[in-house]
Amino acid sequence: MHYYSLNQQAPAVDFRAAALYGQAPDKGLYFPQQLPQLRSTLVNNLRSLTREELAFEVLKQYTGTTIPHSTLQNICTAAIDFPIPLISLSEELKVLELFQGPTLSFKDLGARFMSRCLSYFAQSMDKKIVVLVATSGDTGSAVADGFLGKEGIEVVILYPSGKVSRLQELQLTTLGSNIRAIEVEGNFDDCQSLVKTAFSDQDYQSHIFLTSANSINIARWLPQQLFYFFALQQWNHTEAPVIVVPSGNFGNIGAGILAKKTGLGCKQFIAACNQNDVVYRYLQSGVYQTAPTVHTCSNAMDVGNPSNFVRINELYRHDINMLRRELSASSVNDEQTAQAMQECWNTFNYVLDPHTAVAYHSWKDYAIRNKEAKGIIVSTAHPLKFEEWVKAQLNIELVKPKALEQLENRKKSTIKLKPEYKNLKDYLMGVYSRE
Ligand SMILES: *Cc1c(COP(=O)(O)O)cnc(C)c1O
Repeated sequence: MHYYSLNQQAPAVDFRAAALYGQAPDKGLYFPQQLPQLRSTLVNNLRSLTREELAFEVLKQYTGTTIPHSTLQNICTAAIDFPIPLISLSEELKVLELFQGPTLSFKDLGARFMSRCLSYFAQSMDKKIVVLVATSGDTGSAVADGFLGKEGIEVVILYPSGKVSRLQELQLTTLGSNIRAIEVEGNFDDCQSLVKTAFSDQDYQSHIFLTSANSINIARWLPQQLFYFFALQQWNHTEAPVIVVPSGNFGNIGAGILAKKTGLGCKQFIAACNQNDVVYRYLQSGVYQTAPTVHTCSNAMDVGNPSNFVRINELYRHDINMLRRELSASSVNDEQTAQAMQECWNTFNYVLDPHTAVAYHSWKDYAIRNKEAKGIIVSTAHPLKFEEWVKAQLNIELVKPKALEQLENRKKSTIKLKPEYKNLKDYLMGVYSRE
């Protein structure tokens, strides 16, 4: 299996190179050259396999010969080492809980898979790998946890000081070992531009292999399709489900659509968007127009120009009419989000985080017009990650999982930097020389 750049100006590469470099030299996203077609015996008998076997069967087609099968089996088993239950709210509606991983967001699975692939590839590298990420919250915590203790890899995470939640900050800054957190005295854009400058610094890269762990990396993107296989393993209606996915950068939903294109039986996808609704407007009008990011209560989806959407377009050969048959989208404001979470609590006694509440609203909207439909809403974060918001809406206390209680007692360790590249570079040189 090879991957080509969606900008068409760079050579195709194997899974190893695509995962190590993240982005093609022409700045395009990598995309599989052929879509594997799943054997019908596999798709029709999902339940005859364990989750681990299923994960391996699906992903081995994408890693090709770059990872030995026994290693890939171990990587899959470790990456999915937490429950992913499909919870029934009613006859028509189920919730796929993707938030039971160590940092309580769906990003755990992709980060856990990617870190293990890179650690395997690091064994045959002559330079040390440094993973550099800028985060506004969830990505950083999933990456920090996923890469903790991985041989041959140092991780440096930049986050805007005072602008991530307390829980996120604890998750980012208390791990130690090969994970370093830098508190940037600025905003998220400052963090991102520092990372960009580092990537264009050839001098630094003669010493180390610098890579990123953002959501466009295929080693994070591809394993997310497993969510949809695990959902269908637990689905007990004969009719295929409509799947509603809270969407920001469109990586998660794109992976679901990839699974459908390779043969998984999903009826349709709905991208649940907050007011950052460029894809919703595109499907309405046929015009793709990016917009400045709007701040909302579902902030992990505050994305004005979703980087993975181009992959979805590629899956439909850029034919908007074909796309419209299988993907719809909605645009949900903060007031509707709060109402949705209250309604779900009052009706089903089930607590939603704000991202999943956007999906709940989108489902209700769809179900009014499609009375026979059966659906799954994908829950991307644990409500505890947004405790303040949930408390303000419902006035209830949430029970903390054990892992979080332990986190409270750990000690934050960061260094503070002014957003100037010279400071970051001095720091990174220190990381490099600490063999
Ligand atoms: C990252 C994130 C999203 C958006 O996922 P994409 O793959 O970028 O569309 C949605 N919800 C939560 C809680 C997230 O952390």
